[in-house]
Amino acid sequence: MNDVLASLSNTGIAKQLGVPRVPVLRRHRPGDPLLAGPVLVASAGGAGGRFAKAVAAFVEENGQPVVGAAGEERLHGVVVDLSEARTLADLAAAQQLLTPAVRKLGPSGRLLLIGAEPADAFESGGAEAAAVAQALDGLVRSVAKELRAGATANLVVVAAGAPPVAIDSSVRFFLSARSAYVDGQVVHVAAPIGVLPEPAEVDDPLAEERPLAGRVAVVTGAARGIGASIADTLARDGATIVAVDVPAAGQRLADTANRTGGTALQLDITAADAADRLLTHLADRHGGVDLVVHNAGITRDKLLANMTADRWDAVLAVNLGAQLAINDALLAGGSPLREAGRVVCVSSQSGIAGNRGQTNYAASKAGVIGMVRALAPRFAERGATINAVAPGFIETDMTATMPLATREGGRRINSLRQGGLPVDVAEAIGWFGRAESGGLNGQIVRVCGQSMLGA
Ligand code: NAD
Repeated sequence: MNDVLASLSNTGIAKQLGVPRVPVLRRHRPGDPLLAGPVLVASAGGAGGRFAKAVAAFVEENGQPVVGAAGEERLHGVVVDLSEARTLADLAAAQQLLTPAVRKLGPSGRLLLIGAEPADAFESGGAEAAAVAQALDGLVRSVAKELRAGATANLVVVAAGAPPVAIDSSVRFFLSARSAYVDGQVVHVAAPIGVLPEPAEVDDPLAEERPLAGRVAVVTGAARGIGASIADTLARDGATIVAVDVPAAGQRLADTANRTGGTALQLDITAADAADRLLTHLADRHGGVDLVVHNAGITRDKLLANMTADRWDAVLAVNLGAQLAINDALLAGGSPLREAGRVVCVSSQSGIAGNRGQTNYAASKAGVIGMVRALAPRFAERGATINAVAPGFIETDMTATMPLATREGGRRINSLRQGGLPVDVAEAIGWFGRAESGGLNGQIVRVCGQSMLGA
C-alpha cells in the first residue's frame, strides 16, 4: 500500500495546509482488549429492548464500564437497543439519547443500533411500528457519514423469534477493532440455525483470541492478495487452513500453507473435476470441513461493446461457475461439510454498483449475491449457513496498478476516506465463519468503509 495522503495527513504541515485528515483505523491485534473504553448501553421504546441487558453484561465481562447516558467521558461505543421501538415518540427518545452520545464517541468508536424486522414490528404495532423499524436504516446510514476519526455506525436487525444469544457474535464483531472498515451496514439476524456451541469460558483468555479453534477452513485463491490474508487471519483465529490456488501459483501457495501450518492443494477451480478433488482432499486429509471461503476471482475488463466471449467466459467461470459447482457438491449427500458449516463467498462492490468496463466481472459478482440468497435455505436444512462479503476499494496489487486518478477516487469516496486492507475483508469472513454466527444466513455485508458507490 502506498497511500501518500494517509501518511502525510497526520503531520503538522498537512494540518497547516488544511489537507483532509485520513484517520488511522484501530485494527485487531492479538492480545489487545476487545473494547477500548466505556460503552453506553441503553434502550428506547416499550418496556425496553430485549438485548440491552446481554450487551451490558458482555461489555462488563470484557473489562469496560457500562454507562446509561452520555456524561463527560470519552466513549468507545454506543449501543442503543431499539428492538421494541414502535412509535415516533420512541424514535424521538432514541434521538435524545444519541445526540449527546455521538459527541462523546472516541477515535475508532463504535455506534451500534439494534432494531426489529419491520414485518415483525408491523404485527405488533401496525404501520407506525413498521415505519419506525425501517427508519433506523436511514438513521444509521446517515450518522455513519457524519462520524469522524475512524468511528463507524452499523445496524443489527433481529427477527422476533431470535434469542439474545443470536446476536452475540455480531455485537462482538461490530464493537471490536475487527470491523474497522465495515461501516453503514445493516445485517439481519434470525434464530440460529443448528446447534449453538457452548458459550466460551469467560476465564479462558484464548477463547476470544482463537474463536475458530478446531475448525477446518478452505480458502480458494489463497496464494496472494486478499486470499492470503484470509488464510493468515483464519489461522491466527485458530482454524486449520486448506489453501487452494492454481498450479502456476506454486511457491506462493506453498508459502501460505507453510505460514499458516495448513495444507496446500493445487487446483484450478474451473476444472470439471475440481469440486470432486477438493471435497476428496477435505475428507481424506482433514476428515471434513467447517468453513469454505470462495475467494478466488479474476478480472478481464473491456467495455461491453468490445467484449469477447473468452473474456466473458473466463470471468464467469472462475467467479461464479466454480462457486456454484462447489456449493452443489457441498450440499450433496455424503459431503464433508460438518454441522455448523459456514460458506462465505467474496462478491464485490462492482456487483452492487456496477463499474465501467466490468460487465463480465459485475455480472459474476452480482450473480454471487443471487446465489447466496437462493442457497441460504438449502444450507440451513443442513444446519449450515452461506453469506457473502462485498469488498469495496481494498489496497492490493490489483488496485495498486490502477491509474492514479481512479485509485485516488476509489480511496476517498467513502466515509473513512481511505482504502481498506485485505485483513478487513478477512475479519468479516472470520465473523461469518464462527460457529456462534448461525443466526446470519443469506447476508451480504459490504467491507467498503461505507463507499458512496452503489449505496
Ligand atoms: P488477486 O488476483 O490478488 O488474487 C486472486 C487469487 O485467485 C490468485 O492467487 C489467483 O491465482 C487465484 N485464482 C484465480 N483463478 C483461479 C482458479 N481458476 N482456480 C484457483 N485459484 C484461482 O485478487 P484479490 O485482489 O486478492 O481478490 C480476491 C477476491 O476479492 C476476488 O474474488 C476479487 O474479485 C475480490 N475483490 C477484490 C477487491 C480489491 O479491491 N482487490 C475488491 C472487491 C472484490
